[in-house]
Amino acid sequence: MKRVFITGALGQLGRALTGLLKENHDCLLYLTDSVPDEKNVVKKLDITDEASVKAEISAFRPDVIVNCAAMTAVDLCETEQEKAYNINALGPKYIAEAANEINAKLFHISTDYVYDGQADTPYVEESRPNPISVYGRTKLAGDYYVMGCCPDAVILHTSGLYGEGKNFVKTMLRLADEGKSIRVVADQFVTPTSALELARVIVFLMNTDCRGKYHATCEGSTSWYGFACKIFELTGRDVRIDAISTPEYPAPAKRPPYSVLDNKKLRELHGYYMKDWADALKEYLDGIERYRCHEI
Ligand code: NDP
Repeated sequence: MKRVFITGALGQLGRALTGLLKENHDCLLYLTDSVPDEKNVVKKLDITDEASVKAEISAFRPDVIVNCAAMTAVDLCETEQEKAYNINALGPKYIAEAANEINAKLFHISTDYVYDGQADTPYVEESRPNPISVYGRTKLAGDYYVMGCCPDAVILHTSGLYGEGKNFVKTMLRLADEGKSIRVVADQFVTPTSALELARVIVFLMNTDCRGKYHATCEGSTSWYGFACKIFELTGRDVRIDAISTPEYPAPAKRPPYSVLDNKKLRELHGYYMKDWADALKEYLDGIERYRCHEI
């Protein structure tokens, strides 16, 4: 039985991964987040608290650690830079040091925002990072710490995550249901990725001989506008939606115009293919509809 320690267990990826491991796998889980859940199944652990991180990891002695915790509010990172650095860079450093100390396999999650988005073909793992936001810079610093402190760690770069929690899909559905006018940028290209698809990759890699940097996004790509259109198409909503350009939607943090990643290493080393982004979205939306039916 694998002992698995998860940070950020109440976030989108943390919930998807926990659900998957509980359903299908023979694991003993130790779940943590910045706040405990109501049933205290998820314990409080602030990853910026070095002493607590190291004490809890060494006490549980996990075989695998998955760091799903991060400060993901990209715009807020611009104004709360120290907090962003502590959570996105120093927290992963403490976890990596603790993992290395006990030879635990560490999976750390990073982002497409480590790239500047000036490319016109998908980024591969060897592409040069050049972040253009505080979020991207602090995540990249975290990646460097993880690799420096725990050379056997795996860093998974993903993009446009949606799962249980606040995300673009839920925002679009809410705006549509409220009858609000919807304007979405059509000149930023990403690959929307379901948290469940990313969780499946982590579970798969847990049983392989993997190390280093991996890209892990769904297949294909689209603009945020294209993503929104697909959400409404798949949920049968007839919504008016305007395509706008980035300057028409000013935001504190700069976004890369093209942050599409190629999962070259997953494909070439492991023969692993993630779902196409539209198929993964359909799976997610079907799940939401089922959940809504249960609620009623
Ligand atoms: P979420 O924001 O949904 O979850 C992150 C979790 O980390 C939250 O529960 C958060 O708690 C917790 N957390 C924040 N600060 C701390 C702290 N100091 N100590 C312990 N826990 C903390 O993130 P996602 O699941 O969406 O993202 C997972 C990973 O994927 C992250 O590394 C992220 O950078 C990366 N990623 C995400 C993308 C996205 O679109 N969301 C895109 C690309 C990469 P609280 O809510 O209380 O702050």
